[in-house]
Amino acid sequence: MPEWPEVATVIESILPDVRERQILRADASPHLGIDAEQLRGWSIYTIRQRGKHILVHLLRTKWLRHCIEKYSPYTDEAAEYLARRKQRRVLAIHLMMSGVLTTAAPERLADHVHLRLRLGPSLRYREGSNMLLVAPHRVAFVKDTDPRTQPQWLYFVDPRRFGKVRICCYPSELRSVLRNTGPDISTLNKHAMGDVRFLRRLRTVLKQDTAVYSALMDQRAISGFGNIYAQEACFAAGLLPTRTLRDCADVWLQRLLFFESVRLLHRAKNRQGASVSSYRTPDGVRGGAQDLLFVYGRGGQPCSVCNTPIEKMRIKGRTVCWCPTCQK
Ligand SMILES: [Zn+2]
Repeated sequence: MPEWPEVATVIESILPDVRERQILRADASPHLGIDAEQLRGWSIYTIRQRGKHILVHLLRTKWLRHCIEKYSPYTDEAAEYLARRKQRRVLAIHLMMSGVLTTAAPERLADHVHLRLRLGPSLRYREGSNMLLVAPHRVAFVKDTDPRTQPQWLYFVDPRRFGKVRICCYPSELRSVLRNTGPDISTLNKHAMGDVRFLRRLRTVLKQDTAVYSALMDQRAISGFGNIYAQEACFAAGLLPTRTLRDCADVWLQRLLFFESVRLLHRAKNRQGASVSSYRTPDGVRGGAQDLLFVYGRGGQPCSVCNTPIEKMRIKGRTVCWCPTCQK
């Protein structure tokens, strides 16, 4: 299942191709249970991440066009301001096991496309003039072949059909989609008070006899971790995955969450995620983060740091590996 680095990779790679474009047409498979017509006429101004959720933020096209013409290069802030005051829609996507969000034609998986968005050319492009608005009253000339002058497709492909798609027209609907999703792991060290806030959250939302590994996996406290990176974060912080929150002093949790985890997830993202099973980047290539793994899936093999054989056990139905020497 894609975890934080994989989802971040997906967003980073599709965002330049889809932002500031109007949704001209939307077709969805009936099993998704959404009314895709609600997307038509809206424009994408940004895509955000909350744990493993992909949140495509939409604004009425006339308002986004207004932001671009008046407030560029502050379009994002202006759009966000307008979205808060007027109305925004959010297309919330969870990739689950096998979902893929891509702008490339999914030839091999064409039968498994469950949502298809036809996007117009960039709203910055003046049709018929080869001009692109780069700032208010400033244009750049572009070639006919520039992708921003062309319409674009965005596909949600999901062979195993576990993925979830919701269109949130009101803030309450978005809150309900995210009700069991805590703050995104990447927001951890952004604020000076973040440490205290997150630690308190971890200790109040979860029971004190929760194992550290399970606490990371529980999306209610902090979202973004899955099976792979929860094990790797425990290794990086030198903590046994079975150690309970009660036996874990604040300094250890701080090291685990604010230092090792954030570093680990960003390193994995820089390598475009880990392709241990079906995950591929939106360009269809394998990620490189699987080479960074120290313990995940290495039960019985020698630890790359100290050569002790890696041990494994099952926690809540999942195989968890750790090094008995490096982790205490
Ligand atoms: Zn070791």
